[in-house]
Amino acid sequence: MPHRAQNKPMHFPLPSTGSSWPELESRMRALASGDVKWRDGRTGLYVFNAGEEVERVKKAAYAMFSEENGLGPAAFPSLAGMEREVVGHALALLHAPAESDGVMTSGGTDSIVMAVKTSRDFARAGGLAGQGNLVAPATAHPAFDKAAMMMDLEIRRVPVREFLADPDTMETACDANTIMLVGSAPCFPFGLIDPIEQMGAVALRRNLWLHVDACVGGFLAPFVEMNGASLPAWDFRAAGVRSISSDLHKYGYCSKGASTLLFRDKAMKRHMTFDAGPWPMGRMLTPTLAGTRPGGAIAAAWAVLNFLGVEGYRAKQKLVVEAREAIEAGVQKLGFRVLGKPQLGIVSFTHDSADCAALLRGLYARGWITAANVEPPSLHLMLSPKHAEVADAYLADLAASMQDAGGAAPMPAPGYGR
Ligand SMILES: *Cc1c(COP(=O)(O)O)cnc(C)c1O
Repeated sequence: MPHRAQNKPMHFPLPSTGSSWPELESRMRALASGDVKWRDGRTGLYVFNAGEEVERVKKAAYAMFSEENGLGPAAFPSLAGMEREVVGHALALLHAPAESDGVMTSGGTDSIVMAVKTSRDFARAGGLAGQGNLVAPATAHPAFDKAAMMMDLEIRRVPVREFLADPDTMETACDANTIMLVGSAPCFPFGLIDPIEQMGAVALRRNLWLHVDACVGGFLAPFVEMNGASLPAWDFRAAGVRSISSDLHKYGYCSKGASTLLFRDKAMKRHMTFDAGPWPMGRMLTPTLAGTRPGGAIAAAWAVLNFLGVEGYRAKQKLVVEAREAIEAGVQKLGFRVLGKPQLGIVSFTHDSADCAALLRGLYARGWITAANVEPPSLHLMLSPKHAEVADAYLADLAASMQDAGGAAPMPAPGYGR
C-alpha cells in the first residue's frame, strides 16, 4: 500500500555537508519505494504510462537540455526551433488554418490561464470596459476558476445535460461582458466531448471567443479518429473555435511541464504576449506567464513526438481505447452503468446500490490510486496504454472491493489534489 508522507517540521536545516550522488540516489529510491506502483499500471490518475521505451527517450532528451532556457531564443535557437516544430505538429493534428499560431506552456492550467488572459485582452481591445465573464459548463476544469480568480473575472457555471455542455443554456448565460465560452474535448470528470460545433454556432452568432479545453484529449482524439472512430467535430474544423489547449504531458506522453495553446489566427495570439516594464532593463516581453522556461520539457516533447510519429501514436492510442472498452464491458457485468458514451481514454461509471466511495477505498487498499466523482457518485479512470495489460486485474480488484465494501481501509482525502 502507498505510504503517507511524513510530516516534516517547518524548520528543517539543510545538512551542513553534502552527500555523494550514489548515496542520494539510493535514498531517493527508498523514498520512491513507498509510491504507488505506477509502472505496473496501478494508477488511473497522475501518470500517462506509454511504456519503458518512451520513458527512456524523454528522460534522455530532458537531461540533454535541462540547463537550457527557453526564455532566450537567441541564445538557444535549438529550443526555439523545437518549440516551433512541436506547436506546428499540434496545429496540423488539430486542422488549424494557415494563419494559425501557438505556443508551448508549462501545462494545462498554464494554457487555460493564458487563453483566458488572451480573450480578455482581445475583448478589451474590442471595447470591453467592465468586468468580463466566462460562461462554462459545470464539467469544465477548475483551471478556468483559477484564471477568473486571478484576473477578477466572473465565471458563470452552467448545468450540463446528459453530462454534456448545453449550448442553449450557455447562450442564455451570456451578456455583453462575456469574454469566453468554454467547451471540453473531453471533460475530465466523464471523458465526454462537448457539442463543440453547436457551441461554435453560438459563438459565431454572438461574436464570442470559444475556447476548447482539449488538455486531456488533444493528443489522443486525432489518432483515435485516424484509427477509424467517428468523433464529433471539436477541433479547428468546428467553426467558431478560436483557441484550443492541448497538453503534451498527458496523452502526448511527454515529460511533465509541457502543453500547447493554439490560436486560429495569429492576430488573436498577439493579445497573449506580456509587455511588462519598464524596469532598469527596459521592457520584458514574454509569450507566457513564465520567465524561465525549462528547456528539458521542450526537448522531451520534441523527442517523444518524433520518436512515436503518427504510427507510434496510433498504436499507443489503440491500446488506450481497447483498455477503455475492456473496462466498460467488465464494469457493466458487475452492475455498473457507464456515464454517457466515452470515446477516448477516460470513463466514469456508477452503481445503483454499491457505495462508490467505499469501492474507491477498497481499490486503494489493493494498491490502486484512482479517482471518483462526487456528483453523481461514480468511479473514474484515466487510462493509459499500459492499462490494456491490467484491465483484468483492475476488474478483479473492483469485484473483490464490492465483496468487502464498507470494511475497507481508510484512504487520504478524496479528489486528486492535496
Ligand atoms: C489536466 C487537465 C487540465 C489541467 O492541466 P494541468 O496540466 O494539470 O495543469 C485542464 N483541463 C482538462 C480537461 C484536463 O484534463
